[in-house]
Amino acid sequence: MTTLCPACWRVVPHDARRCSHCGADITILHERDFRDKLMAALTHPIADTVIRAALALAARRDPEASRAIETAMRRFPNEPHVLAGLLSALIVVADDDARRIALDALGHRSFIVRRAAAPVLEHIGRPASETECARREL
Ligand SMILES: [Zn+2]
Repeated sequence: MTTLCPACWRVVPHDARRCSHCGADITILHERDFRDKLMAALTHPIADTVIRAALALAARRDPEASRAIETAMRRFPNEPHVLAGLLSALIVVADDDARRIALDALGHRSFIVRRAAAPVLEHIGRPASETECARREL
């Protein structure tokens, strides 16, 4: 059986006392609320950890997930692959904030970010006003 290290979010054995990846004392960290750990992980210096935390928050359908992910995205304005990873979490969240963030990402200078925003909007749906405009153009 495995679990996730609450510091680096990598897979560790269920009964591990110390993370074999980052060395964190898992027994102390496990006492923190899981949601607090995920929110804290969004400020982690390693982008991969931030993306994993975003995906976990999204999977929990946390009501603050979109805004927390948006805040995390601001830390990586020039890293398209990180932004794309964070945008992928918004597909699961699928709320109005996720839509707004994805629409904003369509204006990003990197096609990687724009391409990552498209499936978010396909999943959530575009705003009704924009859909009507598209219908009139047909
Ligand atoms: Zn760890």
